[in-house]
Amino acid sequence: MGQRPSALLVDDRVLVDAGTVGGALTVPEQIEIQHALISHAHLDHTVGLAYLTDTLAMVAPERHVTVTSIGPVIESLRAHAFNDALWPNFTNIPSGAQPVLGFRSIPEEAEARVGELWVTPVPVEHTVPSAGYIIHDGETGFLYTGDTGPTGRLWQVAREMRGLKALIVETAFPNRLHALARVSGHLTPEMLQREIDKMPPDIPIWIFHIKPQLFQETAEQLATIDPTRIHTLEQGKTYSI
Ligand SMILES: [Zn+2]
Ligand SMILES: [Zn+2]
Repeated sequence: MGQRPSALLVDDRVLVDAGTVGGALTVPEQIEIQHALISHAHLDHTVGLAYLTDTLAMVAPERHVTVTSIGPVIESLRAHAFNDALWPNFTNIPSGAQPVLGFRSIPEEAEARVGELWVTPVPVEHTVPSAGYIIHDGETGFLYTGDTGPTGRLWQVAREMRGLKALIVETAFPNRLHALARVSGHLTPEMLQREIDKMPPDIPIWIFHIKPQLFQETAEQLATIDPTRIHTLEQGKTYSI
C-alpha cells in the first residue's frame, strides 16, 4: 500500500478506496467485491473502479458492485468519471435494469450498513470533498482517514466509538514539504504528531499513502515519533483486526 495507490479489501467483499484493484487482485477475487467505499474522487483512490467495472461487464455481467460515499463524492464520480466521456456509464451496462455498477450516497456522521459492516462517514480536510470512515462489524472496527490535512471532527467521533483496533491514517509528505502538504490537504510526520493528541488514545496507528518517491525519508521521520504505536502499512499484506 505504501507504493501502490490506495485500496484496502475488507472481508473479501468490501473495498475501501479503489486506487488499485486489477494490479493487486486476481479476476476471481475482483468478482467477489460487492461494495466499494470511497473517500473521495481523486484518481489515486478511484481509478481501480474503472477497471473493476470493465472486468465485471466482460466476465461476470450478472455481478454488481455498489460504490458508496458521501453525496458530493458520488456526484463527482457520476459527473466526471462514469459519464460516457472519460469512461462508460456502467450504471447502464449491460442494462439499466441489471447494471454492474450502482452508486449510493450515505449521510455524513450517520451509521450505514455496507455489506456486513457498519460505516460512519465523517468529512475531513482535503482539496475536494473527502470523507474518513469508521468501519466496524458490531464488535471491533477501525478508522480510515482517506486523504486529509489536519482535521478535528473525525477524531471526536472516533473517541466516542468502542472497539476500535486500528487507525489507518495518511501521511503523504516528509516534513520539508510542509507547505505543499498544507495546500494539497495532506499530512507530514510533524503534522501527524499534532493530530495524535486529538485521536482516541493508545490505538495502533497504521500509516498509508506515503508518496512513493519520498517513502524512505517520510518513514524515517515517522519512526522518530512513536515506534511502538506507529507502523507503516505494507502493500499486498493481509492484516487481521
Ligand atoms: Zn486526494
Ligand atoms: Zn490520494
